[in-house]
Amino acid sequence: MSNFVWCHGPSCHKSHTQDRIRGVKGSKVLRTKKIKAVPRPEYINMYSYFCSQGCYNDFANKYVREVIAIAPRTEALETPIEVTKVQDTYWNNQTYMRTEIKTVDNNGG
Ligand SMILES: [Zn+2]
Repeated sequence: MSNFVWCHGPSCHKSHTQDRIRGVKGSKVLRTKKIKAVPRPEYINMYSYFCSQGCYNDFANKYVREVIAIAPRTEALETPIEVTKVQDTYWNNQTYMRTEIKTVDNNGG
């Protein structure tokens, strides 16, 4: 079992940074960055597969159709709420009205 994965950013190997330079004089390359393997599945997140937010964005933008196909949304989701106006006070004791939104649990809550 290897203890690393390669960054999945499609252009990771094109970024001009010193930590990507590999090889000897005359045959140097920019190489995809290595990422430490995550020891436990509950700690897996995007940084388990991408070296940076930029590489994650490049991947998401390139493969957005495939990613959406995993769980397509064909209709809007809704969260039942209750909206009330509540009087509140600023730090200087001046009062104001604010809108309070509470989630309503329709499933016996
Ligand atoms: Zn990367």
